[in-house]
Amino acid sequence: MKLVIAQMKHETNTFSPVPTPLARFAAGRPLPAEGSDVRDAFKGTGTAIGAFIDLADKAGAEAVFPVAGNAAPSAPVDNDAYEAMAGRIVDAVAKGCDAVLLDLHGAMVTRTYDDGEGELLGRIRKVAPDVPIGVALDMHTNLFPAMGQLATVIAGYQTYPHVDMYQTGARAARPIFSLLNGKIRPQMAYGHRPMLPHVMRQSSLDSPNKEIQARAREMERLGALSASFFVGFPHADIPYAGSSAVVVTDGDAAKAREWCDELLDMAWNAREKFVYQVEPLEKSLQRAKDMHGGPVMLLDHYDNCASGGTMDTMAVLGAILEAGLEDVAAFAVFDPQAVEQMKRAGVGARVTIPLGGKLEMPALGLKGKPLRVTGNVRRIVSGIYRNEGPMARGELADLGTAAVLDTGKVEIAVISRHVEPHDIGSFKALGIDPAAKRYVMLKSRVHWRAGLGPLAKAVVECAGEGVCTSDYSQLKFRRLRRPVYPLDPETRPSV
Ligand SMILES: [Zn+2]
Repeated sequence: MKLVIAQMKHETNTFSPVPTPLARFAAGRPLPAEGSDVRDAFKGTGTAIGAFIDLADKAGAEAVFPVAGNAAPSAPVDNDAYEAMAGRIVDAVAKGCDAVLLDLHGAMVTRTYDDGEGELLGRIRKVAPDVPIGVALDMHTNLFPAMGQLATVIAGYQTYPHVDMYQTGARAARPIFSLLNGKIRPQMAYGHRPMLPHVMRQSSLDSPNKEIQARAREMERLGALSASFFVGFPHADIPYAGSSAVVVTDGDAAKAREWCDELLDMAWNAREKFVYQVEPLEKSLQRAKDMHGGPVMLLDHYDNCASGGTMDTMAVLGAILEAGLEDVAAFAVFDPQAVEQMKRAGVGARVTIPLGGKLEMPALGLKGKPLRVTGNVRRIVSGIYRNEGPMARGELADLGTAAVLDTGKVEIAVISRHVEPHDIGSFKALGIDPAAKRYVMLKSRVHWRAGLGPLAKAVVECAGEGVCTSDYSQLKFRRLRRPVYPLDPETRPSV
């Protein structure tokens, strides 16, 4: 048995100014891994491709690894980056294989294609019309019909924060192995509801997504080969941004359809609970100031790099400094220039630098606004570490060269590559203990809860500035299919 196993992951924020070249798909190396490097990088990790490798080994299958690339969310993928990765995958399939296992995101937009994943599957189908294709997807998939039509089996994460990447890989791959062994005949149904659940209301730790994902898991206990509800990724101006579901059964198309519709109806009926109300920043910080004990997590949710944020807007950090909050750790400001300046000044030096605000955000009509900050250069580190988990356990993470700027009241992490703080490793790499802090500012919305949630005594959501804005009226949608709830409150459920 010969398998092609590949990873090509990117969640595209079409409003983001952060570029997406091929190098962004690599961590701890200049370009994405290929060949035996993929096995070395992902064997034993808590990722979907890690599960593919384990299951292939267990089945005694031969596997080839054309590419494994995973980029932090940002603007549409550069065409040459997409062609390099998709080209390698299609070439490998064209050489002949019994099945293809893909670790994709599901919300990849390129400079040319709205549906990066559907385009890839279309190209694979051209060279191998009948080959079984198993696909693991992120819960933030914006599902185009091509994916539902061309894949053999789709399984999506059932958790947000995403702590079930490995299990999702297994849910996508196992039916493919059973199919190859002649034991099952997968039947897949997919569908949509015209709604954009707010990211701040999407966590599977909270209602209503908690109940929807629990029902999907129950369907799998009742016999579905996989059942997935996708909350969708709203910061994408493409026709199919929003909610969808996929259910795969063994030979029972009607049951797959029924269960898929049930998940979609659950989401639609709970649509008002997926709406988020923004609190003004001043009010949030006043609440934080009045709290006792810590750490209090201050979420800079308009500028989350794991949704395409520049990670360099300074509105929330500026307000924290101005409010005089003490004993704060802030993770992180993306500013390679500032890191370079601090490196030149050296550890222990006192510096005054323009921090952050280097990237403009033309899609939102926002200019970059650096903040002049004075502090001591506390540490300079290489910024490479392995995630401790539970999210993407064992996967290499890369902050680039990173520095800690200590203002006396606030320890600010300054980094050269975009990484969302979802793992305690991101703080350890910088020599900061967040548990010992009164306040921890995080450029994160939900994923921080994976690795840092247990530390939090309280959480305050801080509305700042950025391309991951929680005020969706700032997003100028032109290509999104309308009507869609809640942008169009009178939207009806039929698509
Ligand atoms: Zn996601």
